[in-house]
Amino acid sequence: MASEVSPAAPSRPFSDRVWANLMMLAEYAEPDQPGWTRRVFSPAYLESRQVVADLMEATGLEVTRDAAGNLLGQLAGAEPDLPALVIGSHTDTVAGGGRFDGMVGVVAAIEVARRLRAEGTRLRHPLRVVDFLGEEPNRFGLSCLGSRAVTGHLDPAHLQLRDASGLTLGEALVGVGGQPEAIQSARWKANSIHGYIELHVEQGARLEETGRRLGVVSGIVGIHRVRVELVGRPDHAGTTPMGSRLDAMQAAAQVILGIDRIGRRQEGAEGVATVGQIAVEPNSPNVVASRATLVAELRSLDAEWLAQGDQQVAAQVAQVASETGLVGELSWLSQEAPVACHPTLRRLLAQAVRELGVDPVELASGASHDAAHLAGLGPMGMLFIPSRGGRSHCPEEWTDPEQVALGTAALLRAVQVVDRAQL
Ligand SMILES: [Zn+2]
Repeated sequence: MASEVSPAAPSRPFSDRVWANLMMLAEYAEPDQPGWTRRVFSPAYLESRQVVADLMEATGLEVTRDAAGNLLGQLAGAEPDLPALVIGSHTDTVAGGGRFDGMVGVVAAIEVARRLRAEGTRLRHPLRVVDFLGEEPNRFGLSCLGSRAVTGHLDPAHLQLRDASGLTLGEALVGVGGQPEAIQSARWKANSIHGYIELHVEQGARLEETGRRLGVVSGIVGIHRVRVELVGRPDHAGTTPMGSRLDAMQAAAQVILGIDRIGRRQEGAEGVATVGQIAVEPNSPNVVASRATLVAELRSLDAEWLAQGDQQVAAQVAQVASETGLVGELSWLSQEAPVACHPTLRRLLAQAVRELGVDPVELASGASHDAAHLAGLGPMGMLFIPSRGGRSHCPEEWTDPEQVALGTAALLRAVQVVDRAQL
């Protein structure tokens, strides 16, 4: 792990410097974890954020940390009364994560600010670069901590969430320089931003498969998550005839296949349905399963598709329960609505990309982002650069240096275009 702060030299060419900073940041990884793991609240995360703060400062940004542990760097605008144009992302990773998801958006945003200063370009709006605290899921079970806080959606009840050791989220926040008792002070006023633009790796393979270099995001999918509980009866697997069983495993299999069909029901609707988690009791080879608990999720840009999917999942579970004689129960864990990117911002981002001589493609984001929360504060837009093989949340996550450089150039151009626009 690197211990010394080494902001890359300002004389380095544009593309090299962004890449060098990305690779430098990747060195701050948890030593006992695979890949480039840097989870929120870990010592590696704490160290890396000091590096990010130093980079911001070396760039001439006025650096502050808010009560939610967000790291902010501000560049004054020519018209200080105007709302800020905000760019950024996050620098935490999942366990076993990569070097690009989130980091690209923060490092590129700092480079954009540096370029503007170096060229003597003054934006009309103040430019605010943000490294949002903890975007990825964490041990407290709540993601997008920092972006929730700026929208006023990180409330006192959330701060009481505990990890397995009994530590509260509020206590953990103190460790990253936050002030849980003043959490509301991290909130930004409604309509207090001119716009928010996040550059991110696609985390899917659409750009690569279509041979495109830059994507303009149309919207961020909504995610509905449901826990399904199927309760039968434990019986001897050798002596209980097939017709006399209340087999929770067998019922779970039917529900899983049914949910898969729900995901496939409408070709082209860009909806997906997944059962990615299951627990079975007693989980023994010679006992008929008495209980199966599975968690399913539906994702789509289309709220109607999600609402229909919810009903179909409920109907599927009810049908399986009535056919098998088991008890089937559902509890919705979350129902987050899809978030559309701002139409004018989408158009301006596409224009900025074209000005670089690149033909952009519009695509939906199947993953959630800090941007989904920022949309509650003002116009929100996202730019995607390719992920090799569509791989993400794994050590193999990769985006070529030229693609990172092009994404940074697009973000710079977008900032200049959006700064002058009425949204
Ligand atoms: Zn991310």
